[in-house]
Amino acid sequence: MHMQEIKTRPEKTKIRIPDERGRGLDTTEDNRRRQESVMALVDEVGTSLLDTVEDASLFWSRQLRSEDELGDVKGPRKHRIVVIGSGWSSHAFIKSIDTDKFDVVIISPRNYFLFTPLLAAASVGTVEYRSITEPMRKANPYASYFEGEATDIFPENRTIRMRTRMQTNDGSKIDLNVPYDMLVFSPGVKSSSFGVKGVYENCYFLKEVDDARRLRSAVQDRFERANIPEVTEEEKRRILTFVVCEGGPTGVEFCGELYDLLSTEFKTLYPKLKSLARVVMIQSGPTILPVFEESLRSVGLNVITNAGVEVALETRVNAVGPYSMTLNNGTELPYGLAVWTAGTGPRNITERLIEKVPVQAEMTSRSKKLTIDPWLRVYGTNGSILAMGDCTKMEPILPQTAQVASQQGHYLARMLNRGYDMSTPDNQPPVQTDDNNGDNGDNGGGVRKTFNLLRTLGKREADPFRFFNYGMLAYLGNDKGLAHIQANDLDLIKASGQAGFYLWRSVYFVKQVSLRNRVLVLFDWMKSRMFGRDLSRI
Ligand SMILES: Cc1cc2nc3c(=O)[nH]c(=O)nc-3n(C[C@H](O)[C@H](O)[C@H](O)COP(=O)(O)OP(=O)(O)OC[C@H]3O[C@@H](n4cnc5c(N)ncnc54)[C@H](O)[C@@H]3O)c2cc1C
Repeated sequence: MHMQEIKTRPEKTKIRIPDERGRGLDTTEDNRRRQESVMALVDEVGTSLLDTVEDASLFWSRQLRSEDELGDVKGPRKHRIVVIGSGWSSHAFIKSIDTDKFDVVIISPRNYFLFTPLLAAASVGTVEYRSITEPMRKANPYASYFEGEATDIFPENRTIRMRTRMQTNDGSKIDLNVPYDMLVFSPGVKSSSFGVKGVYENCYFLKEVDDARRLRSAVQDRFERANIPEVTEEEKRRILTFVVCEGGPTGVEFCGELYDLLSTEFKTLYPKLKSLARVVMIQSGPTILPVFEESLRSVGLNVITNAGVEVALETRVNAVGPYSMTLNNGTELPYGLAVWTAGTGPRNITERLIEKVPVQAEMTSRSKKLTIDPWLRVYGTNGSILAMGDCTKMEPILPQTAQVASQQGHYLARMLNRGYDMSTPDNQPPVQTDDNNGDNGDNGGGVRKTFNLLRTLGKREADPFRFFNYGMLAYLGNDKGLAHIQANDLDLIKASGQAGFYLWRSVYFVKQVSLRNRVLVLFDWMKSRMFGRDLSRI
């Protein structure tokens, strides 16, 4: 398959920009887009209802089994799906996949799912780490989990090599070969320095629980160091200068959380230091929060600058040293703690897969993402490798978000549950075969067959993946937030300030992946509000 064969994005009709009085507004085009969004919303609600009932039937058929059936491997050999990763897309996939039909094996270095939108809050102690994680085994007890990292892939004989945490007597790690019939690839991306010198050595990142843990400890460390009486005032100011590199949602949310910490617990517990702390945000672009629309972006900028965050727009970091960083305008900025949220890059295993599949090597760009077709199949693998989440790119280009990743995970699991043949040529829809239309002969099979009939109305080809955009949220600190709730192009709610904050909290409360997480997060929010964040450096 070659580059030219990928579907290109349909040409967009030009929309005229209206003047202040609305003259020049192309109402026909505007109405058409609104109608499309309303239809998409109706379709989404209908499909989601069917999907939810179908997923619930799967969930309860699992829940109602006796514990003895866990690990029961009797019966004919099932098709083996190996899933790489335990993030947003894999977690959604694991929740929805039918483990009666497939033998599912998860390989990941972490045995839990992480709710990343609250990681910034965890890095200053507003919520606790364990409140925003869920063990993968809980997500689906009938899937197997092997702790370790996938280090190589052999597509020609359908095998994964993984490195476990087990060690031999000479201290080297034990490697395993894990065969698969189908690979679901979703290792996400890693933090990247974009080649800026000194970033890995001197900056903190915010991607995993360990990053948040290190960051929380480092913030507390700076408070204690600056508190030593012998330290000069100039040095105290340096130690208490917190620099956040890049003003995307993660950087802004960290600033917001840090502002809350500095303006409450830090102010009360370190009264002599309170006037010395400084938060600086370095943003390479002309605005912060570029993913939000203009009106919300400027509210965001106003809120954080009014709170005292110094924002340097159109400024880049050239190099980071242990005590100061050099900016592209020649400024040498002394700092005590720097957080790098500026970029992401491919995992080694993704680069390895791109090397192994010749078509991928031709298609990949500088971002080194896997190119997938509209049914999430990795081009050039005959439908044996499916990929989802941040490590992929497809047409139309989708944002690198949890929303996209989890929708892809559910979509893929449901497509496999419904028995589509994924080995049709790239760019041609997988087809449902007569003998494999969602019924695997078990107790839940009849229910699934009925739902399948209702959904497809006799259509054999699988629908391509369609992202449904619910909008964006960001926390700005001081109980203020931004919320843009959408149904694709249809704006439902735009809110900022306190209203934005309450929407942000409500959505993330509801979006927690289990009742346990919901209760724990709610409790943490109440706890930090009533008793303050815990600053013990344990
Ligand atoms: C701090 C932060 C805040 C965010 N906030 C939001 C938000 O508010 N809204 C939003 O929509 N998105 C948000 N995102 C983005 C969102 O988290 C990602 O888009 C999403 O996690 C992508 O899901 P994924 O499944 O592709 O990868 P991930 O969720 O990153 O999961 C990747 C998984 O693969 C595992 N893995 C890595 N390497 C290997 C290997 N070699 N072998 C096996 N397993 C491996 C990892 O351990 C992990 O379990 C945020 C991200 C961060 C970091």
